[in-house]
Amino acid sequence: MATVKLDMEKLVSLCRRRGFIFQSSEIYGGINGFWDYGPLGVELKKNIKDAWWQDMVRNPPPGPDGQEITMVGLDCAIIMNPKVWEASGHVGGFSDPMVDCKESKKRYRADQLEVIEGHHEILPLLYYAYTSNDQDLLKAALKKAEKAARASAKKLVDTPVGQAFMNVAKEVSRLAQIVGPDVDVPGTLTEPRAFNLMFESYAGAIQSEENKVYLRPETAQGIFVNFKNVVDSTRVKIPFGIAQIGKAFRNEINPRNYIFRSREFEQMEIEFFCHPDESMKWYEYWRDLRKKWYSTLGIQSENLVPREQGKEELAHYSIGTTDIEYMFPFSEEPQELEGVAHRGSFDLTAHMTKSGKDLTYFDEEGWNAMLQERLEPFKEDKKRREEEKKKLEKDERSKFIFTPHVIEPSAGADRFTLAVLCESYHLDQAPDANGKMEERLVMRFHPRLAPVKAAVFPLMKKEGMPEKAQSLYRELKKHYKVEYDEAGAVGRRYRRQDEIGTPFCITIDFDTMKDDTVTIRDRDTLQQRRIPIGSVLDELRKAMA
Ligand code: ATP
Repeated sequence: MATVKLDMEKLVSLCRRRGFIFQSSEIYGGINGFWDYGPLGVELKKNIKDAWWQDMVRNPPPGPDGQEITMVGLDCAIIMNPKVWEASGHVGGFSDPMVDCKESKKRYRADQLEVIEGHHEILPLLYYAYTSNDQDLLKAALKKAEKAARASAKKLVDTPVGQAFMNVAKEVSRLAQIVGPDVDVPGTLTEPRAFNLMFESYAGAIQSEENKVYLRPETAQGIFVNFKNVVDSTRVKIPFGIAQIGKAFRNEINPRNYIFRSREFEQMEIEFFCHPDESMKWYEYWRDLRKKWYSTLGIQSENLVPREQGKEELAHYSIGTTDIEYMFPFSEEPQELEGVAHRGSFDLTAHMTKSGKDLTYFDEEGWNAMLQERLEPFKEDKKRREEEKKKLEKDERSKFIFTPHVIEPSAGADRFTLAVLCESYHLDQAPDANGKMEERLVMRFHPRLAPVKAAVFPLMKKEGMPEKAQSLYRELKKHYKVEYDEAGAVGRRYRRQDEIGTPFCITIDFDTMKDDTVTIRDRDTLQQRRIPIGSVLDELRKAMA
């Protein structure tokens, strides 16, 4: 982990200034929990989604036994039949327990509230609540506890310990002893209550209960309800995966930490269907693969923390879940980037029950292989063969029909975009036009993710340099997002590109006009090399591989 933590305000300001991320509807004062990606942000996020699609769907690495793995994609509607959400448990169930503060009118997620105990000699015993990972609120809670101890002429001898609010609030009477995070008196917090996170709307002209629909809170269910369609319309055989990238909506109570927790976001989800007997093997495969993927795109491995959920945290259907967490600068604790969950057969079974449709899988290949082997001894005796076949159909066929188990790696495109922005932000030293060292802000994006791959500069606006530079620019932009810049001193142009993380700057100078060579400058090492103008595209290709 970096020793100096990135100041989030600086990152947010850079993102706004250079057109990565804007507040949604900013001219009207914005809207809490919604963000817009600007010209550079949209390129960055698109590169992230394209990298995921390329590496997970079109060209996934070999499976655990070195075999090719089959992956296909889907793009489902955001609004689905509401029965989907009844079957999945989202209607009624998709809610975080919330706690309201009657005095401050603030609302907190109960599972994110913790309490410290006041000094035990002070009666009645008070607890001071704060939201986990919020150092300011923790400090405030400690201060309140100290103040109370001083007021009653007691010294705070024990270090108060953080414990889950939910545990303390289990006994309702104790709510009266808890001082909320934003108030100074006890007893203002309500009991935890369910709060539905799904956005609702109506399909059709009449706003009636029958026309009620939901904006999907995850892309996964679109995959489950299309499982049979995919099996019937393609030649996929289990094991195989279906992937989808798309928007999801959650009416989060406390959207916060920039694009980390918003109300509209994008997910990159895979449902990998396999035989129950092989599910643990595939779970481990996806868990390890997904963590590695982040590292190959430039996330330092010490900032990435896979965290196997404890039994008590697991969703009721889950056999195992690993959260891949990242040390975001806004928190002392690593936060979830992606969850890799072993969901068993929960989802397909739920949709089978609700829809009445058969979503089991028939392992035809396995069945045929078995038939062939068992009927081999009777190949000369047609009658016996038929009898044996009937017997096998009665006794054995059902063993080849099963409800697949599912491994779900579910990642957030916006959370990864934020991790990439945090990870790339660097301040270092670089020489100015006179060779004097000065501070430089550089975004060290992995070349595959960088919004702009290269910038082409004519050294001067004369002697054919601009024309030559434009011709190179036109050639490169057929393949990559590149920029052309002829404004200001070259040093200044370098700085502009460093700030947006452009890996290469290519300068057309006097020598180019003589021998068709250019300088190519590396953003990170600052080294400049002379290469033939005809090999620039290859250089970019190499870096993007
Ligand atoms: P959290 O506990 O942080 O709310 P979650 O466990 O509910 O997350 P999942 O339902 O597993 O999240 O969703 C999968 C992924 O979708 C998350 O790992 C995250 O990257 C992304 N995601 C979920 N909620 C949000 C949100 N409100 N804003 C941005 N990304 C989100």
